[in-house]
Amino acid sequence: MQEVVVGVLVENGRMLIGRRRRDTRYEGTWEFPGGKIEAGEDAADALRRELREELRVEAGDIELLTTVEHRYDDGGQFHVRYYLVRSWRGEIRPAIWDEYAWVTPSELERYPIFEANRRIIGHLHMRLANDDERYMLAALELARSAAQKGEVPVGCVVVRDGAIIGAAHNRTEELRMATAHAEQLAIADAMRRLDSKLLDGCTLYVTLEPCPMCAGAIVLARIERVVFGAHDPKAGACETLYTLTADRRLNHRAKVRGGVLADRAQELLQEFFQRRREQQ
Ligand SMILES: [Zn+2]
Repeated sequence: MQEVVVGVLVENGRMLIGRRRRDTRYEGTWEFPGGKIEAGEDAADALRRELREELRVEAGDIELLTTVEHRYDDGGQFHVRYYLVRSWRGEIRPAIWDEYAWVTPSELERYPIFEANRRIIGHLHMRLANDDERYMLAALELARSAAQKGEVPVGCVVVRDGAIIGAAHNRTEELRMATAHAEQLAIADAMRRLDSKLLDGCTLYVTLEPCPMCAGAIVLARIERVVFGAHDPKAGACETLYTLTADRRLNHRAKVRGGVLADRAQELLQEFFQRRREQQ
């Protein structure tokens, strides 16, 4: 049976849809992102390769959404896999129908998409209801790359109006700076990008509960909301040891939600410190 991989990139509640081939003979496909599986690859590998080759996008976290089988009168059979690409690096520019288009689910009516794909998109849209997890996955991706560089794996993104405007991982080793925490660097990044010393209306996502220094920076930057992953019994200053971001004596307070995808953040930290102990 032939396998067809269909990738779906999603950002800011929009999705990337590909061109519909005129000569296609099966009902369920978008031309891209996705395609043939080559020898030695699994379906997710094939999607990663195609994204890299065709859009120059490095895909990180890929989740299988659903699979569909199609059969035809002539005996032809296709196995179609739909993937959600939850995190990636790169830039996706195309916005014209001839190539690829960024659309919201409500805009889909304007495009010549197969009915089967509309149903998939509806399903996809529901799966993305939880924005907090989506941005935490982006922060986790940064934490993972920190670990690869020998840095304590903590990642952070700052989000405004659904767009990531600041991103960083911990860089205390590289910069030889005890204060180069992910939050400090991501906040500075966001301020630079907005050309503003305040981050009103922004949400900060970080994989580990902010320390007192970072909680202080959050208050000074007037960040509206903080979402963190694992609680930090050694330095947590939003809920665990202190509640600085809720302290009424300070001139700003941030809403806090802790424990989002905490297991994954915790796992990264444990693996990192275990490997470091083994090396010593
Ligand atoms: Zn900190």
